[in-house]
Amino acid sequence: MEKITVRLQNRQSDIIVGECLNHLDEYLKKRITFIITDRNVNEIYRERFPDCYVYVAEPGEKSKDITVVADICRWLLENGADRSSFLVGIGGGVVCDLAGFVASVFMRGINFGFVATSLLAQVDAAIGGKNGVDLDGYKNIIGTFTQPEFVICDIDLLMTLPEKEYVNGMAEIIKHALIQDFDQFVHFEEFSVPIMAREINKLEHMVAHSAKIKASVVEKDELEHGERRKLNLGHTWGHAIEKVTGLSHGESVAIGMAFSANLSVKKGLLQEHERERILNLLTSFDLPVKNPADPPDVFDVLLKDKKKEGGSVHFILMKGIGNVVVEPIDIMELKKFALYGD
Ligand code: ADP
Ligand code: ZN
Repeated sequence: MEKITVRLQNRQSDIIVGECLNHLDEYLKKRITFIITDRNVNEIYRERFPDCYVYVAEPGEKSKDITVVADICRWLLENGADRSSFLVGIGGGVVCDLAGFVASVFMRGINFGFVATSLLAQVDAAIGGKNGVDLDGYKNIIGTFTQPEFVICDIDLLMTLPEKEYVNGMAEIIKHALIQDFDQFVHFEEFSVPIMAREINKLEHMVAHSAKIKASVVEKDELEHGERRKLNLGHTWGHAIEKVTGLSHGESVAIGMAFSANLSVKKGLLQEHERERILNLLTSFDLPVKNPADPPDVFDVLLKDKKKEGGSVHFILMKGIGNVVVEPIDIMELKKFALYGD
């Protein structure tokens, strides 16, 4: 078991990797607790939940909606929740976003924690205090920065995660290595097979390491004015790919990271052989690297996402493996590269 403490201006957040869902009760400290989960997690793990009120949301992004937020707030009121109540999200990124958002607005904010059950939530979504819901197809357009009191990452729960969701989490884990950890990148090159086979002795170390990278970036820049932008590696192009193709988030981000690697080579920041290594690693984790859509369609969505007609976008480029730089890139230059590769 490993505890990672994220220290921020007005609170700290403990991420406990290797802790067990069965011990959640100890973290509740006898407070009146309300649990938010989704139907899949509820079906598999409900009997291991402590004895609390439980709200079961539908699985999937569509639950990250303001009407669901209102429904949960109503449910909290009906069951007598007040400012001293405690909220716990048990689930993947969707549940964590939803629970974190509700906790930060209900009665102007109540304390909360997470049991992150998906790989993506354990290394990314549950860490850093961003809680958002979607509106009219725009992701996370309504949200807050509020830190959970604790994040429990129970590694055993990953064994029931569907393969597609596991690979989704791997994309963000590889992203963290590309941002600031060359040694971890080499480790993944060597151990892709046991990691894909979810060998438990490899997973705890991997999750702890990756969560630590995310925590360290967030500590430096909680509100995303600079350093935290690095976590957007692969996401500018990736989000547009996700919208156009309907590929999963992780697959789209993998294609986005490959795009960033290509552009970094063109700009002389990354060597050709390093680009090859990055693409090979993504492929060895069953992640795609080629854009299956029409580049002009993807570019149009990117523009709309950024609400830009001119000027530049902050783009995350790779300066070797395990180091990134945030660079403003002229929109027309990006378009030329996206459409014609030069
Ligand atoms: P993410 O964590 O990738 O942001 P979700 O919260 O939508 O996204 O979780 C992905 C899917 O995996 C959902 O259908 C969710 O119900 C399911 N899920 C999450 N954790 C587990 C688990 N430990 N076992 C089985 N299914 C899970
Ligand atoms: Zn992401």
